[in-house]
Amino acid sequence: MAIGVKEIIKLGEEKINERFNLRGGKSGFAGEYVLGFLPEGVKAGGFLYTNKDTVSLGVVVSMKDLRKNGSTYSFDIIEEFAEHPYIAPMIEGGKVEEYSAHLVQEGGIQGVPKLYGNGYMIAGDAAGFSFSNGLVLQGMNYAIASGIAAAETAIEAKSKNNFSEEALAAYRERLMNSFVLRDLLDFRGDTGRHLERHCAQGHSQGHGRSVRAALHRGQPAEEAHIQDRHGCPEQERDEDL
Ligand SMILES: Cc1cc2nc3c(=O)[nH]c(=O)nc-3n(C[C@H](O)[C@H](O)[C@H](O)COP(=O)(O)OP(=O)(O)OC[C@H]3O[C@@H](n4cnc5c(N)ncnc54)[C@H](O)[C@@H]3O)c2cc1C
Repeated sequence: MAIGVKEIIKLGEEKINERFNLRGGKSGFAGEYVLGFLPEGVKAGGFLYTNKDTVSLGVVVSMKDLRKNGSTYSFDIIEEFAEHPYIAPMIEGGKVEEYSAHLVQEGGIQGVPKLYGNGYMIAGDAAGFSFSNGLVLQGMNYAIASGIAAAETAIEAKSKNNFSEEALAAYRERLMNSFVLRDLLDFRGDTGRHLERHCAQGHSQGHGRSVRAALHRGQPAEEAHIQDRHGCPEQERDEDL
């Protein structure tokens, strides 16, 4: 799990276009940064992107690193980022209009719970549909696509007046046939948590298979993960490599 902290800074459209060399209309600027000024052991990424008359500035920091370090705080990191000589000129004269923080899941497929049951379906972040490995952060695409899949399934269920678990199983099928679950299955083993790998490659492959099978059965993925962890031979653990 990571934490994202973001400021929305008002600069005005004219200043943004001039400062970022934009022509207005639909053009914009987006930058992603690896923060190198942090205390030992704390890893974080930064981002800055332009909106029409505001700039979004933020950082994403591993919660585990913060806990381990004990004396570094996400609100200090964003302050330091904003004052960095590379960033400060881009936001100079701006006024912070919004400040927010949000948890970012890094879990990938092993964070996905049971996705549907009698009368419900779970989509987006709530369903664990996010992927983050410290370099890439995705979630909006999965939230939109899973929302569409849930809506289509709900429309179908309404036309038959059947909202049972069996009827809503079509939601999981839609996700299995879309990039949502395909991506998460393909990326298994590449998430932040997996970068620390408890087991070698053999475990990841086995894990993927058991999770895929669990999703077909409608079983919570976490259960499958636990089963798979138990099945991971001791000699495959990273500490032994
Ligand atoms: C700092 C940061 C940077 C990110 N960068 C990217 C990126 O570059 N690319 C990308 O693809 N993804 C990115 N993400 C992830 C992306 O924002 C999420 O995956 C996506 O917004 C999930 O959409 P969602 O609709 O599932 O959930 P949310 O966007 O969290 O929406 C849930 C909504 O439900 C509301 N809500 C909660 N509880 C209740 C309640 N009880 N009653 C009524 N309403 C409620 C909340 O207020 C919220 O508005 C980033 C996330 C963070 C924090």
